[in-house]
Amino acid sequence: SQQAPASNIQQVVDRAYNHYKTITDGSNASYISYLAKANTKLYGIAVVTTDGKIFEAGDAEHLFPVESIAKVFTLAHVLKVQGAKTVQNKIGVNATGLPFNSALAIELNNDKLTGSPPPGNPLVNAGAIATASLVDGKSLEEKWNMLLKEASAFAGHSLMLNKDVYDSEMADNQHNLAIAVLLKSYKSLYADPTETIDLYTRECSYDVTAKDLAVMGATLANGGTNPLTHQAVTDAETSARVLAVMATAGLYNTSGEWLYNVGLPAKSGVGGGIVAVVPGKMAIAVYSSPLDAAGNSVRGQLAIQSIAQDLGVNIFKIQ
Ligand code: GLU
Repeated sequence: SQQAPASNIQQVVDRAYNHYKTITDGSNASYISYLAKANTKLYGIAVVTTDGKIFEAGDAEHLFPVESIAKVFTLAHVLKVQGAKTVQNKIGVNATGLPFNSALAIELNNDKLTGSPPPGNPLVNAGAIATASLVDGKSLEEKWNMLLKEASAFAGHSLMLNKDVYDSEMADNQHNLAIAVLLKSYKSLYADPTETIDLYTRECSYDVTAKDLAVMGATLANGGTNPLTHQAVTDAETSARVLAVMATAGLYNTSGEWLYNVGLPAKSGVGGGIVAVVPGKMAIAVYSSPLDAAGNSVRGQLAIQSIAQDLGVNIFKIQ
């Protein structure tokens, strides 16, 4: 499968950028005070190909909190260390079809009303919190350093914790803590709830740019080898499993609609980032903070859909 010519990719990125520049729909995440204050005008797009070419438009190098997109890279780490069966049996890999922070999914799974173990899926909060509880390490610091190092390898440079986001989330974290304690009551949390929520909140609070997300996604598209640094961050088997989970649950309760309309595994975060992966070819990432009701960047979804369509990269469609 050939890459589209570079001049064509830049044109397609510019077209999507200009087309959605004036869209003002959606609103910032309101439940985390730091995110509520984000500048809604900022808008950036980045595409990174598996052969290491970078295409950008707008505010592609503006730093913003990664939020839920970190769940992808924590999952990659836990899959590599603990293996695919452990993730399937202890967390689950089915779509929950419920909002990102639902405690209901835990109850439905525990009552065997679904085929999943109680956490449900590593890319929604309950499952992501359970995934964080499976990170090996002697202390919280050691676990956190491991996760940040792994995410940084995906990005190709050192990512940094945003202390203001971390403090702001720790102050408003009662719901996630309740999820952790509920999981613990069902023996589906594998470490201390308070420490796990601290680790989970740190992973949500490192900053990235749209370009970082595109490099991180392109590493998955490239079977786990970073196309810029050429470091083997993970392997092709792990990358394939991560992409499968992104396809089932990457856009919260509208993951099915996304896959149906765009045909690419993707992950969004309430910080306004979103990244879609074209296996073997590229990743497309966008930053724009206003979200739809499910928590996905409005302009991010529109721009990625337009770029994917123009480049003909729906994975289900024979080109
Ligand atoms: N830190 C956020 C939370 O747990 C992340 C949610 C998200 O991006 O979906 O509420």
